[in-house]
This record gives sequence, C-alpha cells and structure tokens, in this order.
Amino acid sequence: TKFSDLNLDPKVLKAISEAGYDTPTPIQAEAIPPALEGRDVLGIAQTGTGKTASFTLPMITMLRKGRARARMPRSLVLAPTRELAAQVAENFDIYAKHTKLTKALLIGGVSFKEQDLLIDKGVDVLIATPGRLLDHFERGKLILTDVKVMVVDEADRMLDMGFIPDIEKIFQLTPFTRQTLFFSATMAPEIERITNTFLSNPARVEV
Ligand code: AMP
Repeated sequence: TKFSDLNLDPKVLKAISEAGYDTPTPIQAEAIPPALEGRDVLGIAQTGTGKTASFTLPMITMLRKGRARARMPRSLVLAPTRELAAQVAENFDIYAKHTKLTKALLIGGVSFKEQDLLIDKGVDVLIATPGRLLDHFERGKLILTDVKVMVVDEADRMLDMGFIPDIEKIFQLTPFTRQTLFFSATMAPEIERITNTFLSNPARVEV
C-alpha cells in the first residue's frame, strides 16, 4: 500500500511526504480505509507502530469539509497523560499544516483562561486528557453536540489510571451518531466491555 492509494486529502499527503514518510505502517494501512469510510475502528496497537497518524490522518481528511463554531469542537482526541496529549497535538500540527484546521490542547497544569479563549473562538479538534475535558464541560464552556469523530488513545493506560468512568461520561455527552476510533495496546475485559458498549460494528485492526 502507498499513502496515495488511501484516499487521504491531498493537503495531508503533501504534509506526510514533507515529513519524510514513504509508506504507511501496517496499522495505518489497515485502519485508515475503514476510518475514511466512516466506520468505527478498534485498533489494537502499541506505541511506535504509527498509530497516531492512523487516526489523525483520516480525522483531518474528514474535517476538511465544514467549519468549527464557537465552543463546539467537531472532534475530540482523548489521551491518558499530558505528555501524550501534547504529542498528539504536535503530530496534528505537522499533518494539518497545509489546512486551516484548528486545535486546542486541554491539559492540566495550564490556566483555563487561554484554553477558554481558544474554545470560544471555535476549534476543529480538541485534544485533551479526560479529567480536564470534563472540567471544561462542567464549567459550561464546552458544547459537545457537534462532535463527529471521537478518538480514544491508549485506552489500556486510561484503565490503569482509573479514567474509564470519565471516558464513559464523555462518550455519553457526545452524539450517538459520532464516529469512534478507539486504540488500546491490550484488550482487558473492562476495555472489551467499553468497546462493546460504545463502538458500533467496529473494524477491528490488530498489529
Ligand atoms: P506513534 O506510534 O504514532 O507514536 O509513531 C511512532 C513514530 O513513527 C513517530 O515518530 C512518527 O512520526 C513515525 N511515523 C509514523 N508513521 C510513519 C510512516 N508511515 N513512516 C515513517 N515514520 C512514521
């Protein structure tokens, strides 16, 4: 498989070629086509396999149509730690650099004020740790009814850190019609239960 066979947006293809990527990794080759068809994806993959691009590239491609509105992000990426969320945000900036898509990073240890300003302006993508996202929601600053795509990254670490109740809450706050891209290194019973509850006929991709 070549990246150019994957139906990605030309602006995304340009960015990944500039990033020096030559061929898709196995998780990318398998997860991107069903994601672009609008299917839910259950990806079982470790860090280092290229999984970040496997959800970010189709997400950017799908968001190219449409515009963000104030306080209504069109997609969410949830990561277990500040560091991981920040890494996803860095990757997003690289892959989306030829688009006008916008993002906000919502992590603890940063003042609410500047995060609020971005949310108020309207962002396409919110990249967040679960607790911080819920903090913003509970302060009444965030409307999640326009979320089209929700990504859960490193669900097994979310489980270790006790974040599964937060993730369930966030699933319930987003529209039933959203697309879900869900990644975990392992499939513990609790992870299996969450995916059975909140994913709809997912394409299961294991590398
Ligand atoms: P990840 O598993 O998402 O943390 O990615 C691991 C590393 O692989 C990151 O530094 C990416 O920039 C890099 N990477 C991801 N996809 C590709 C690719 N198709 N070709 C070359 N490098 C890649």
